[in-house]
Amino acid sequence: MTAESLATAAYLVAALLFILSLAGLSRHESARNGVVFGIAGMTLALAATVLLVVLDAWGAASALGLVLMLVALVIGASIGLWRARVVEMTGMPQLIALLHSFVGLAAVLVGWNGYLDAPDMSTALEGIHHAEVFVGVFIGAVTFTGSIVAFLKLSGRMSSAPLMLPGKNAMNLGAVVAFIAFTVWFVIDPRLWLLIVVTALALALGWHLVASIGGGDMPVVVSMLNSYSGWAAAAAGFLLNNDLLIVTGALVGSSGAYLSYIMCKAMNRSFLSVIAGGFGIQASSSGDDEQGEHREVSADDVARILLDADSVVIAPGYGMAVAQAQYPVAELTARLRERGVDVRFGIHPVAGRLPGHMNVLLAEARVPYDIVLGMDEINDDFAGTSVVLVIGANDTVNPAAAEDPGSPIAGMPVLKVWEAAEVVVFKRSMASGYAGVPNPLFFRENTGMLFGDAKQRVEDILRVL
Ligand code: NDP
Repeated sequence: MTAESLATAAYLVAALLFILSLAGLSRHESARNGVVFGIAGMTLALAATVLLVVLDAWGAASALGLVLMLVALVIGASIGLWRARVVEMTGMPQLIALLHSFVGLAAVLVGWNGYLDAPDMSTALEGIHHAEVFVGVFIGAVTFTGSIVAFLKLSGRMSSAPLMLPGKNAMNLGAVVAFIAFTVWFVIDPRLWLLIVVTALALALGWHLVASIGGGDMPVVVSMLNSYSGWAAAAAGFLLNNDLLIVTGALVGSSGAYLSYIMCKAMNRSFLSVIAGGFGIQASSSGDDEQGEHREVSADDVARILLDADSVVIAPGYGMAVAQAQYPVAELTARLRERGVDVRFGIHPVAGRLPGHMNVLLAEARVPYDIVLGMDEINDDFAGTSVVLVIGANDTVNPAAAEDPGSPIAGMPVLKVWEAAEVVVFKRSMASGYAGVPNPLFFRENTGMLFGDAKQRVEDILRVL
């Protein structure tokens, strides 16, 4: 058996392991196995690739390829290990966005290499090769700059408000039409300047598409970039003639697209409008109007309210992750349950900064699964709830989404916490949430604001209890 066919067999097994991994990751109970399958698949794929290069280097007199690959492997693995060890849970979304940008950049470089160092082939195949180069560079460059903007927005280095350039939809559409026209031209006459133009065009388009999307739609953008990075990898796979890269890219591309679709449905957003860079989304009409007086409460007050409550629902959000408040929240839950209070959690599908962010934090703090409910499971129960504790959540409990058609988050389903008898909001100031939209919940009669770091405030309540 030749090394090539050995590697092909290994790639096939790795592809199967990736499919098993995706299947495993779709349920809580099997998620751990899913991760193990993924690691096994990736190790096998890497080992087969390294083996091929090693044998190649032996075959050819030059070992340069081998040395370069080992250097890249050591540098990449060291940076990856270091970042994965130090990253905070709250920093995961921007790290993932940054990793997507690497896939995009790699696809651009593979495309350029495919053009500059084109293999000998028949004229018929040459046209296909040039189309692959062009499409690969385009998807890669859009993914690259789009992911960098997502990284900047998620890490707070760039405003999460949508960029509203005049004629933005026409610009995006024009860029896509120009890309199609240039592709045809490049297939007929592959000039270097065309490749330079399409690279610049795609870099600008990626930047503009993601910059035009507001904070409320960022969850969809992240999963959409995940999908783009998959297609970019698949395009690179075609150029490199690597079946595993094609299969893996297609798996990531299609599962990312499906996740984006599910998230759009959950948030009542048009999938097409989001992937078209916020097509049809208007700038907000409501500003930071003064909405009345808010009522401040103390930890003592909240402890007292909780002692009188029959049922409590906790709505956690990004602030709980920032404060690392999940441990005292779990303890508060246990204490209240010991006293016979019915405590449940209401989790919004986009709470936090990652799909499933809150579920991971609560599982980490050993909150029982069966009292952690999804938005649809709990939304009708708020009216009969004595107290809702909103811990570091903001956009996901904003009544404007349901009541103000002019709001940028209008139509997005939210947790109807305001229907409960009492609401306590834990946050540090009156600042808006990630979408930058003012929240009328804070000014409702039945809402009390408990200011300060969520972890410290929950610990204060525990002391009083
Ligand atoms: P938000 O981001 O809307 O609000 C979080 C709130 O937490 C802030 O208002 C902040 O107020 C408060 N906070 C921050 N730190 C602390 C702290 N230490 N102690 C107490 N409070 C704190 O949260 P939500 O979870 O409600 O909404 C998530 C938002 O993120 C949505 O807009 C969603 O679209 C977006 N998003 C979600 C992603 C996902 O996949 N889940 C991905 C990308 C974006 P203050 O500063 O006053 O303390």
